[in-house]
Amino acid sequence: MPDQLLRWVQLGSEPGVAPGSVERVRALLNTDDRFHGVDHLTGAPVGLVTLRDALRHYLSSGDATGLDALAAAHPLVVSFGGGAALEPAGGDGVVAGLLSEVHRAHASGEWTRLKACANPDCQWVYYDGSRNRSGRWCSMTECGDVMKARAYRQRSRQS
Ligand SMILES: [Zn+2]
Repeated sequence: MPDQLLRWVQLGSEPGVAPGSVERVRALLNTDDRFHGVDHLTGAPVGLVTLRDALRHYLSSGDATGLDALAAAHPLVVSFGGGAALEPAGGDGVVAGLLSEVHRAHASGEWTRLKACANPDCQWVYYDGSRNRSGRWCSMTECGDVMKARAYRQRSRQS
């Protein structure tokens, strides 16, 4: 079966590519490209757009209300055929598969490494691979420098 998700989602976009399958979740989140003001899910199935927006909201606020509603409509069952995994049991298979991946990323701790860039003009979702998970910007050379310069200007204006 062809991977339906790859019709809409570009894996491996720098900066902050995630290792392994959690990249599918990160790439979905970044279809809402706020830095360039482009929505790559224009024309995509509404379920995928709803999932992306609910995930974005959950990532930035911790509020899972929308995500829980989606999960209720896309049930998953435990399957031991290929090792323990959660498999779609109804609803949209692409959405359910991604919900399963989000669950797996929580269990592995990878979810907490997905962060939205602290530059409000960017908000690119990147994988924070740093040891102490202290990253704040998608890229030090781009947003890191921009935000530091902005903070410096603010400080010098105040003093
Ligand atoms: Zn950024």
